[in-house]
Amino acid sequence: MRVGEVVLKAGTRLRPQEFGLLAAVGRANVKVQPAPRVAILSTGDELVDASAKPGPGQIRNSNGPMLVAQVARAGGVPHVLGIARDEPDHLRALITEGLQADMLILSGGVSAGKLDLVPGMLSELGVQALVHKVTMKPGKPILFGVKGSKLIFGLPGNPVSSLVGFELFVRPAMRALKALEPGPCWVSAALPKDHTYRTDRPTYHPARLRMTEAGWTVEPIPWFGSPDLRGSQTANAFVLLPEGDHTHRAGDRLAVLRVEDDL
Ligand code: AMP
Ligand code: MG
Repeated sequence: MRVGEVVLKAGTRLRPQEFGLLAAVGRANVKVQPAPRVAILSTGDELVDASAKPGPGQIRNSNGPMLVAQVARAGGVPHVLGIARDEPDHLRALITEGLQADMLILSGGVSAGKLDLVPGMLSELGVQALVHKVTMKPGKPILFGVKGSKLIFGLPGNPVSSLVGFELFVRPAMRALKALEPGPCWVSAALPKDHTYRTDRPTYHPARLRMTEAGWTVEPIPWFGSPDLRGSQTANAFVLLPEGDHTHRAGDRLAVLRVEDDL
């Protein structure tokens, strides 16, 4: 290295070798951009906290803790806003607080039912919706909007819709905020067995992705759809099944959404 030479440009992501390089040139202190702060708001009158016992017609808030873990895995700083009731004043107050963060993720209340107050309230608070509804399964009613530099995602309430919507849309946005290639990360993997299915929309089906000597393989796992979080628990990826009636043969390759780095 020559005197006066730039060793690391501003905006460079700090990986282990950058820390080593900074130390080597005596830069013990550097200015860094903080990780994105991501507010998380679960919505729904039926929801109770995980620590509470649900009464008749109630269920525990599973999306909140799941989104906290997803934000953390994606390198963001989660800020938990709790549960908003399906009631305009309560929802308005919590969304207003969430809009202080770099990014706001809501779950539930985003489709077209009477109690789906999220799209209307976001619009009232000055959020411009750029996307509402995507041809996909699970999770069609997903919403993406902006307010100034803030990014807002409304994920559908069913747990696997929320899980997939985050990996497919929110995580790439977080990567972009961190000056990384947004992704998402696709892997082409071979089926070990024939697989027959029918679906009316492109479907992100929970699956097991494995690295073998012959390359990546992927096996769709039994799964009962967007409320079936338990069924998706043994998955470590989502295989993209094109819409229609199909039989894919053993050895055929399919696109797989990779969500775990340490397989
Ligand atoms: P919604 O999108 O609000 O119509 O919710 C769709 C389904 O997901 C309903 O059965 C909700 O009870 C359920 N749901 C909504 N939010 C959550 C959550 N935070 N945790 C678990 N299930 C939820
Ligand atoms: Mg709801």
